[in-house]
Amino acid sequence: MNTQTITEPARQIEVVHTTDVLVVGSGPGGLPAALAAARAGVEVTLVERFGCFGGNLTVVGVEGMHWYRHEQTVESNGIVREFEEAAKQMGAAVQESQSLSYEIDSEGFKLVADKLVLDEANIRPMLHRQFVAPIMEGNTIVGIITESKAGREAILAKRVIDATGDADVIARAGAPTFMTPKESMMAASVMFHVAGVDKIKFMEGIKADPQTYKDWGGGGEWNIETTGKEDEMFSPFLKKPFEQAIKDGLIPANLNTIAGTWGAIHDTGELTYMNLIHLDGCDGTDPDDLTQFEFEGRRQSMLAIEALRRYTPGCSGIRLRNFGMTIGIRDTRKVDCLYNMTSTDVREQGRFEDSVGIFPEFIDGYGILILPTTGRYFEIPYQNLLPKGVENLLVSGRATGGDRVSHAATRNMACCAVTGQAAGVAAALSVKSSQSLAKVDVRSIQKELERQGARVH
Ligand SMILES: Cc1cc2nc3c(=O)[nH]c(=O)nc-3n(C[C@H](O)[C@H](O)[C@H](O)COP(=O)(O)OP(=O)(O)OC[C@H]3O[C@@H](n4cnc5c(N)ncnc54)[C@H](O)[C@@H]3O)c2cc1C
Repeated sequence: MNTQTITEPARQIEVVHTTDVLVVGSGPGGLPAALAAARAGVEVTLVERFGCFGGNLTVVGVEGMHWYRHEQTVESNGIVREFEEAAKQMGAAVQESQSLSYEIDSEGFKLVADKLVLDEANIRPMLHRQFVAPIMEGNTIVGIITESKAGREAILAKRVIDATGDADVIARAGAPTFMTPKESMMAASVMFHVAGVDKIKFMEGIKADPQTYKDWGGGGEWNIETTGKEDEMFSPFLKKPFEQAIKDGLIPANLNTIAGTWGAIHDTGELTYMNLIHLDGCDGTDPDDLTQFEFEGRRQSMLAIEALRRYTPGCSGIRLRNFGMTIGIRDTRKVDCLYNMTSTDVREQGRFEDSVGIFPEFIDGYGILILPTTGRYFEIPYQNLLPKGVENLLVSGRATGGDRVSHAATRNMACCAVTGQAAGVAAALSVKSSQSLAKVDVRSIQKELERQGARVH
């Protein structure tokens, strides 16, 4: 190991902006936080390292935000629903194949998000800026430092929301976080979309050999627990082409992890949200792992595309349309919050007096798939957004505190939007009432969330 170090000289950094609520990261956990805080009446700044909002939805190409929805599903409402409705209105959504929902087009959602942000007069968007360090006064965060083509810049804020997915702000503020060991973390994925599908033939093939969630249970990566009620339901699952490719020597036998779901089939012959590549052992906070697995994910994607060409009806003429612009990460740091969600909370309809949102009983990950077909749901307490040991800072999105099974529920994009909207409202009311985040009146947070259309109980 190279232990050589250098000392970075201290320097003066210009304060380029001052704001009430600063949201770092604009994914499903960040974008709703910014919108909700603005709608609660404060000045908001939304910082994002890439050139568009949306996080995994746009930059990775994860299009299935509402695929859990069935007839009896009890919904969170609020911004979660607004995303889907806005996408439908702007032509950025198509019917989803396994649920009563619409799949969001990852490219089109860039425009939806632009509109949602630009429609709010009091959000200042700051793209192409990477958070690099918190500005601390003791254990209170008072702003952040970003790095960009303009060099280092300081942004000061009364409250900060860490929506980076990886808890970058909270970890660097020195507050406690924890991580599943890399060997047992959820796999990373390189996502891709293809063009040139004969839609009629493809759909005939799917109907002739429909797959179900039970078919996921093929061992290895795909060994899953359900409640039983999911087993016979249709799933847009693809495994057989890759099994055949292994038999024929096209794909090496050790790549039996290639399998998964397709998202939407468009009239234009595009098959999108190809969630087929699963890369174990990738720590999304380690740039060397990210480098290695970007290459490996692209390599495996091209093997998968060749197998689809040969063994899937309607796919003989397909070509790669695009990769997600970055590898998709499911699982890194979780914040140690005043309350950390548990397996029991998400499996047994947890209820909390300080609930700031509900989420249907939808658990997907760590070998469990439970769909919210029965109307069961759990609540998320405000304390789940409050990191220990640091003031003026909230977390939203997939890094909120919780154990592995609860992560398999709260990491879902719609749940990230629930914690995002709640964090935005809490931060705004904390500024307006001059109360610390820990002391802000929870009933007033609940009332404002309800005013914004979200369900809290
Ligand atoms: C391959 C894959 C498939 C998935 N499938 C589904 C699915 O079908 N349905 C579902 O609901 N969920 C799915 N998920 C999970 C879901 O996408 C994530 O859990 C969710 O997007 C997390 O939202 P987030 O806002 O916390 O983080 P992200 O979506 O990662 O957003 C974080 C944002 O912060 C920005 N950011 C990060 N660090 C910094 C920094 N230092 N400075 C500035 N900006 C920063 C990022 O660029 C990004 O825009 C999937 C995930 C993956 C990877």
